[in-house]
Amino acid sequence: MRNLRYNRKKIIILGLILICLLGLWRFMARNEETFELGHEPYISLYLHQKDETIRIKFEEYLIGAVAAEMPASFEMDALKAQAVCARTYAIKKLLEQKKFPQQADLSDDINSCQAYIDPADFAKANPKHHKELLRRIKKAVEETRGVIMLCNGEPIDALYHSTCGGRTEKAGDVWLKDLPYLNSVVCDYCAQSKHYATVQVFSTQQLKNNIACYSTDDLEIKIIETTASGRVKNLLINNVKLSGEEFRRLLNLPSNWWNFEIKKGKLIINSRGYGHGVGMCQFGANGMAQDGNDYKKILRHYYGHIEFNKISYDVLD
Ligand SMILES: [Zn+2]
Repeated sequence: MRNLRYNRKKIIILGLILICLLGLWRFMARNEETFELGHEPYISLYLHQKDETIRIKFEEYLIGAVAAEMPASFEMDALKAQAVCARTYAIKKLLEQKKFPQQADLSDDINSCQAYIDPADFAKANPKHHKELLRRIKKAVEETRGVIMLCNGEPIDALYHSTCGGRTEKAGDVWLKDLPYLNSVVCDYCAQSKHYATVQVFSTQQLKNNIACYSTDDLEIKIIETTASGRVKNLLINNVKLSGEEFRRLLNLPSNWWNFEIKKGKLIINSRGYGHGVGMCQFGANGMAQDGNDYKKILRHYYGHIEFNKISYDVLD
């Protein structure tokens, strides 16, 4: 009887210790120190189209992020560069502790975070080769496990875009704030992209439909300011000033890097690249990998003043 009481007391104490440990682990999982403590964290991910939140291991999440953000058929070192970008980008978001809908840590909405595709959805979208493609992405994530980019000891804002068109853009020319690692660099590797050069033709009616201030049949456009890389910063359209970004949105242009000609009342826009042009050029990364550059060399080309670090969450795994 005494033994039984003693054992019961022991079980209760052990139970309490277990509850405390679980609580501590949950607390750690919600805080940035997690990345120093030795366990790969679980994150909560908001899926905006399904309007639901899932719980997933961080490195598993990266497989879905890379699968959604870069063609899986790209070279292995381009996929590895993308994995490091996606990991660094996500870590920065986690450290900011900004909550997404449903109090999630991250979101798959590209307007506020980076894209993610569930492996089952990826298989449906790639019915023929999904196993091989997914195997390649897993390999890229696993072989860069934990690797992130830092500048002055902080994870960088690892922005990337599809195709720069020959030169990337510096952050200050897009978002007003210059960052030492987001400068404009030459890219000789993305000519393979179908977005490298595009031509769009707009009729007067299309312009009237898309641009509110445009109401006359006499079209007059003047580029009044360009960025250091040559992208359009400000323009006048029939004497109304628009930013390059507004104009791009109104006409759904692939980028802000364009020139134009007017022929028979039609506006012809010749664009270069696709996306904001800041950070890593994904097609350029693929071209560099085809040329034999490894993922670190690729990333060092597009991001200046960076160092690599490995998150130590494998210590206790
Ligand atoms: Zn490029």
